[in-house]
Amino acid sequence: MRRIITINSNQVHRSLETKKLLTEKLTAAGFEIHYDFHPDAELIISIGGDGSFLKTVHDFDFPEIPIIGINTGHLGFFPDISPEDIDDFIEFYLKDDYITQDISLLQASVCTQKSCRDVFAINEVVVKGDKSRTIHLNLRVNDRHIQNFSGDGMIVSTSTGSTAYNYAAGGSIVDTSLELMQLTPLYPINTNAYRCFTSSIIFSNDSIIRITPEYRFEDSILIVIDGVEHRFSKISDIQISISDVKIKLLRRSNYEFWSRVSDKFL
Ligand code: NAP
Ligand code: MN
Repeated sequence: MRRIITINSNQVHRSLETKKLLTEKLTAAGFEIHYDFHPDAELIISIGGDGSFLKTVHDFDFPEIPIIGINTGHLGFFPDISPEDIDDFIEFYLKDDYITQDISLLQASVCTQKSCRDVFAINEVVVKGDKSRTIHLNLRVNDRHIQNFSGDGMIVSTSTGSTAYNYAAGGSIVDTSLELMQLTPLYPINTNAYRCFTSSIIFSNDSIIRITPEYRFEDSILIVIDGVEHRFSKISDIQISISDVKIKLLRRSNYEFWSRVSDKFL
């Protein structure tokens, strides 16, 4: 029986060395290695940091195949394995000594006057201005008006993304076993002219968040998905919810979210 593994690496020297070594060792262990997406692969390995991990998942269009990362990057919150642990990884993989963790994604339906387009996010959807001016956003949840927001913008984060941009913006770290959406304001204005919530809001997993830009000056709203900018011409409405699509992370069987958090940044 063919056992196929796809390896996706960034172009950093250490990653390329790791890719070479990993290919040799996995081939010796009887696996067929591909460097492009292969529909019959049983596992995808992403070599790099968190950014590479996010890119692999986006480039491969949110595959159902489990994914594991080897960290050659800076922080490496997603990747579970370090390049020194390749032998160890192959051993526990062959013994089926691992767990798979379902990761929920956000789905944002971005509408312009002409059409709507769906985009998916692992960490977050950011709505902000691309011109350094205050932006004004009307926020509704399940078709109830919450507030007219004025400031730099807002982050809608998954639990998985809570430790990324969300945390830097003052949002809370969320246990990834909770499925929810966290909306964190970016520099909300609080004056007699504008009133905005100043802390994060947590929404349940069945909520529909609706953000409608109010254009006071010009067409200037930018959508950033997992760190990548998406430009649309005159957005009329953005609807964000938790998607039915999920990805699967392969984890060491001793993986535990809070020890990862304290190891990486507390
Ligand atoms: P980047 O600029 O290298 O990312 C910033 C840092 O976030 C990196 O150290 C990255 O880890 C880390 N990171 C990414 N996802 C994370 C997660 N789920 N939990 C904890 N840390 C995480 O850009 P990138 O590598 O392409 O990552 C894109 C992400 O950067 C976006 O999704 C956004 O969350 C984040 N970001 C943060 C800020 C901020 O904190 N002010 C601003 C813009 C974007 P690696 O070093 O391993 O790549
Ligand atoms: Mn990065």
